[in-house]
Amino acid sequence: MPRDPVCNMEVGEDAAVTAERGGEVFYFCSEGCRDKFLAEHPEKGPRSSYELIIVGGGPAGLTAAVYAAKLKVDTFVILKDLGGQAVHSTKIENYMGFDFITGPELVQKFKDQLIHSNYVDHKVAEAEKLERTGDGFRVVTSDLAAYSARAVIAATGMTRRKLGVPGEEEFQRKGVFYGNIQDLSFVQGGDAVVIGGGNSAVQIVDDLHTVARKTHVVAQSFRADPAVLKKSEGFAAAVKYEGWKVERIEGDASGVRGVHIRKAGARETAALPAAGVFVAIGLHPNSGLVAGLARLNDRGEVVIGPDCSTDVPGLFAAGDVTSAFGKRIVIASGEGAKAALAARQYILSLRRHD
Ligand SMILES: Cc1cc2nc3c(=O)[nH]c(=O)nc-3n(C[C@H](O)[C@H](O)[C@H](O)COP(=O)(O)OP(=O)(O)OC[C@H]3O[C@@H](n4cnc5c(N)ncnc54)[C@H](O)[C@@H]3O)c2cc1C
Repeated sequence: MPRDPVCNMEVGEDAAVTAERGGEVFYFCSEGCRDKFLAEHPEKGPRSSYELIIVGGGPAGLTAAVYAAKLKVDTFVILKDLGGQAVHSTKIENYMGFDFITGPELVQKFKDQLIHSNYVDHKVAEAEKLERTGDGFRVVTSDLAAYSARAVIAATGMTRRKLGVPGEEEFQRKGVFYGNIQDLSFVQGGDAVVIGGGNSAVQIVDDLHTVARKTHVVAQSFRADPAVLKKSEGFAAAVKYEGWKVERIEGDASGVRGVHIRKAGARETAALPAAGVFVAIGLHPNSGLVAGLARLNDRGEVVIGPDCSTDVPGLFAAGDVTSAFGKRIVIASGEGAKAALAARQYILSLRRHD
């Protein structure tokens, strides 16, 4: 049920007073609350200058945005999409406050907090360039708009790795997918191949076990969390190929048909039939935006201190894009909150010297 952004009361959509701001509909318990909200949020496009710019719409960026708003920092969020990787998680069982929640449900709650409860200025676009200016930073977006701020939080997360084998590009979205997808009906009763041995791969095996006739899981090693791996051991129709590598993906005009694999360091090969191929071999950090400014480690992650600061004063980073240990939603959210607190302290110190 939506909440009134002024008094925070739950309001039924049918009975509520509504108003629109920035393309979003807001629900109010009374005309008084609506009028107060409209007075506090006059219709306007984004300004060109803010105290803080946050780049990224995943758990780290959204948490940083809500924290910054609560701390009364003048904030602008630039995001390519709302939710980041979390939106692809079909089962989140390790986020406090929820025994179980799906990624899309959790992201909807994040979105409500960003837009309905706090209303943070934001724009859906890619931040293409980040540069230092005399008194802060300048961010240029994909539509060539430029925004300046005293401080920036980079919360750009990670993107999935590709296999780089023949057939991968050709059958992408014609049976080859990265990570899990909501509608698995196209493999109903057929064979599926999952490539990878981490938590994401095992989650896909879990999702497939009531759908596919057989699931072949190909990985150099299985390194998912013990509880996740233990659960997957109960899936009789899942066959593991540990220590095998994918050589090529094959198919025809109607889509993917199979995967050729080879045992590492051996001549042994196997041809696995596949109505669907799910690649989950890890991710790489989206650190390109800050690469020319801040120090990266050998994994390409932005090196941060305990307060999410980088080696560039005023530039902070949070979540999966950073060197922080643990790539999890709860950790990315916590790091986002920390980055907002640190950015605020930095901005306050600048205000004292202005
Ligand atoms: C399939 C899957 C299942 C998972 N399941 C779980 C789970 O059950 N529990 C758990 O704790 N974790 C899970 N994770 C991991 C979790 O989703 C991540 O740790 C978390 O989303 C990291 O958050 P983040 O905000 O740092 O980065 P991301 O979620 O990667 O978000 C980054 C955001 O930045 C945006 N962005 C990137 N570059 C730019 C740019 N230049 N300009 C503008 N925007 C940009 C992206 O579009 C995205 O919105 C899962 C991950 C996957 C892939």
